[in-house]
Amino acid sequence: MSANSQDLIVVGQGAAGLAAALAAAEDARRRGLPLRITLVDKASEAEAGGNTRWSPSNMRMAAIDRVEPSFVHDMLAATKFQGDESYFARLAKDAPATVTWIAAQGIEFIQPTYYLAKGPPRIQPVGGGSAVVSQLARAAKAAGVAFRHGCTAQSLASEHGRVTGLVVAQDGKQGDAHETLAAAAVILCSGGFEGDGASMREHFGVGAETMRLISPGGRFNTGDGIKMAMQLGADRAGDWNGMHAEPVDARAKNSAPVVLVYPYGIVVDKNGRRFFDEGGGLVHETWEWFARDMHFKTPGSIAFAILDSRLLAIDGYERAIRSEVPPARAGTLPELAKLIGVDAENLYATVASYNAACVGDPEKFDATRCDGLAATRTLQPPKSNWARAINEPPFLSFPLVGAVAYTFGGLATDECARVLRDGAPIPGLYAAGEITGHFYATAPNAVSVLRAFVFGRIAGQEAVSFLLGRRG
Ligand SMILES: Cc1cc2nc3c(=O)[nH]c(=O)nc-3n(C[C@H](O)[C@H](O)[C@H](O)COP(=O)(O)OP(=O)(O)OC[C@H]3O[C@@H](n4cnc5c(N)ncnc54)[C@H](O)[C@@H]3O)c2cc1C
Repeated sequence: MSANSQDLIVVGQGAAGLAAALAAAEDARRRGLPLRITLVDKASEAEAGGNTRWSPSNMRMAAIDRVEPSFVHDMLAATKFQGDESYFARLAKDAPATVTWIAAQGIEFIQPTYYLAKGPPRIQPVGGGSAVVSQLARAAKAAGVAFRHGCTAQSLASEHGRVTGLVVAQDGKQGDAHETLAAAAVILCSGGFEGDGASMREHFGVGAETMRLISPGGRFNTGDGIKMAMQLGADRAGDWNGMHAEPVDARAKNSAPVVLVYPYGIVVDKNGRRFFDEGGGLVHETWEWFARDMHFKTPGSIAFAILDSRLLAIDGYERAIRSEVPPARAGTLPELAKLIGVDAENLYATVASYNAACVGDPEKFDATRCDGLAATRTLQPPKSNWARAINEPPFLSFPLVGAVAYTFGGLATDECARVLRDGAPIPGLYAAGEITGHFYATAPNAVSVLRAFVFGRIAGQEAVSFLLGRRG
């Protein structure tokens, strides 16, 4: 394997990989470095793009050129102060220039209306992640990046601890499908391990392997890049018991059929019993643990949102329901219980005790913020906001299951996107996006795509500097 190769390989065609490849191509040209860049993705061209392709790609920015002053603090608070401050500070610093650069590739950004509750300010690319994947792939091709689809990265080649290439397997190749591509630098952007049942079970326990993937893109993210780098001695980081999960309609077949109106009613298990505070915070503050508890702790890993006709009077309620299947609907609670297969007596008793605890003024109800309309403290579990009696037929229900979007455990990287081994950079190895371990406890809302762009671009630029340095 040539240690003098002027090749850079990027693994993965999501937000991180595309930003890395395009930034490297632009920087190499600007700095006069003749560089061959190849982006490999294990999926076919039609399916490549991982989670990014299926993501609305909301990004936590006040505007295209500005993050909120509290950004770094908010990130660290989400990680329960276990996150790396220098990583999040670099994210905040580079986000405006990065998003401006993405916009210059022909991607328009808007300020979206989020589900129902507002929360922090966000921007969103028009057309979501699928527009990002196609526009950035087009720009990268125009900048000279070669793409290989159906090409699975399997391991890193190295000499004396530094990266010299990538071993890949090409779909459809006759005979020995393995091939070693020479590369003086490799940027790993191959996502988390949510698509690998065995790894899910290893890190989250029995039953994790049956957790639904929230989008079709997740099945390609089987932790390959994490394993490859760890074989080279890379350090692990992030919360290996952390994942981003959301409640989805158990019946729906469409991608990400989230049902985010549960705070405005109650949620019961199939025995008809409540098991958490549905109004414990804005939906993006409760969805992760609700989805996990539903999968790992409720009988049959299923639960039911129970609402009444007042849901239909909430302005824009449809925005918070992405299921293709309408709710079950009945004139009485026993009929609803029968329709959804929940213990009818228990459901009746649960709703009765919940209704009796809803003593606040229903006029205070406001779906767009934590309205403080709490049930009496005797109700267990409590209901801290949006506690209105459920008594106006028709009664409505969505059956829900927890679905995983992505995992938190990954590679340790520094603020220059270099992969670390015993705390020091591995020469020629970079990583960005979901594959890196920077989230702990709960996912900071609307940051996964943003950090994939920012650190993907940094990785591309750093790799070019590294290669220029090697030329002397
Ligand atoms: C439905 C949904 C909604 C979301 N909403 C938001 C949101 O609003 N805001 C937000 O910030 N985040 C959101 N996320 C999360 C976010 O989209 C992802 O975390 C982010 O896009 C990941 O980007 P990435 O480039 O790291 O990985 P991905 O986009 O997942 O790309 C990884 C790529 O690597 C390829 N790959 C994997 N293994 C190999 C291998 N061995 N060899 C070659 N290629 C390989 C895969 O095929 C894939 O193309 C959402 C996710 C989903 C699924």
